[in-house]
Amino acid sequence: MGWLGLDDTDHLSGGCTTHALFELLQSIPSNYEVQSHRLVRLYPFASRRTRGNAAVAVEIIGEDYDELMTFLESWWASKLLPLKGLISESDMSDRQQYPSDPGMVWFNDKISADFYWECVSREVTISEAPEATKSWGGNGIIGATAAVSWPALDYTYEAICWRTKESVGMGKTRLVDLERLAEIDSKPETFMSRDLRSNSILVSPRGNCPVLFGLRAKTFDSAKINSQYLAESSMTEAIDGMIVFQTNQATDDHLPEDSTAFVENITIKRRGTVAVLCKCGTLLMAFAESGDIKLLAQWLKPGDQIKYNGLQSYDKSIHLERLSIIKALPDKRRPKCLECNATLKSMGSDQPLRCPKCRQQFPAEWECVERKPPYIGWVQPPKDSMRHLAKPTSW
Ligand SMILES: [Zn+2]
Repeated sequence: MGWLGLDDTDHLSGGCTTHALFELLQSIPSNYEVQSHRLVRLYPFASRRTRGNAAVAVEIIGEDYDELMTFLESWWASKLLPLKGLISESDMSDRQQYPSDPGMVWFNDKISADFYWECVSREVTISEAPEATKSWGGNGIIGATAAVSWPALDYTYEAICWRTKESVGMGKTRLVDLERLAEIDSKPETFMSRDLRSNSILVSPRGNCPVLFGLRAKTFDSAKINSQYLAESSMTEAIDGMIVFQTNQATDDHLPEDSTAFVENITIKRRGTVAVLCKCGTLLMAFAESGDIKLLAQWLKPGDQIKYNGLQSYDKSIHLERLSIIKALPDKRRPKCLECNATLKSMGSDQPLRCPKCRQQFPAEWECVERKPPYIGWVQPPKDSMRHLAKPTSW
């Protein structure tokens, strides 16, 4: 029959776009079949992005088009339009918050992937969106359309479980069985469940959004079976329901091809953030939160050859998401005196070297000393600082 997309329904009183879809699907007349649940993360630097910058879409199969449109029309007016103008819950960043501007789209047919690729890699305006069969609302139409347009060439899964209205309403601390989570986290098909380095739980959001947890996995079955196992534990609070979404998380869809460059110089800034200027003029930023990337960037010296990837920010600098050293330029030092082992000193340009002890002279030359990089191969930020879209390099 067609595709429904939804976005930008986050708001302070505890909304989230996945939950808005969950509620809609619970109320849809039973003569419609829903499949291909999708959760799509979009351009991380979008100025009006919502908290997680995620949009959702589903395919709906059924006979009665008019009945479905009547249902969507009334659902929009009673449940989604009232969310317009509410301010999103802070995601602990100090960036400007925009009031939510929900959008819903209906396409009779699946659309070309072009719009998705624009939306995941740059700022897009609503006028660029392909026209839907029917659309409702404002800015959210962009993400809603992108979610329908996603070609799902590369994908992972996330099973989302929502809290009951009572738990959300009373603002209770989330209860998730941490022993079972540890067990699940050790399975090779799941990923990004915990960050052992910072000892943080990555499946549960903070704040009063209705999501209890979202379990990421490489396969549908793994997402479904493991999230059921977690939800069924007596140590996990009651849930309202679960949907397994196919997602573009951990696909690198937002990134261009890897680039290589030679380092011109590095500047270490506040909290260890590093600005790496390349010989080609490109400026790379390794932020304090980027962990191993920051440490490797601090170690770089002029002339080193590196491989990197990241997104270009509005100031044209590239915010590094992975970094690797191809070739470290060796350090140069003067040789030692063969007699007394003191380091030889230069007597000036085009002059020989002289031993500071025995005054013997030697031809001017350098000795190369290999520098041993602190990491071999790609480094990425710690799990709790990685973008949803970033693919672990170990894959
Ligand atoms: Zn000497």
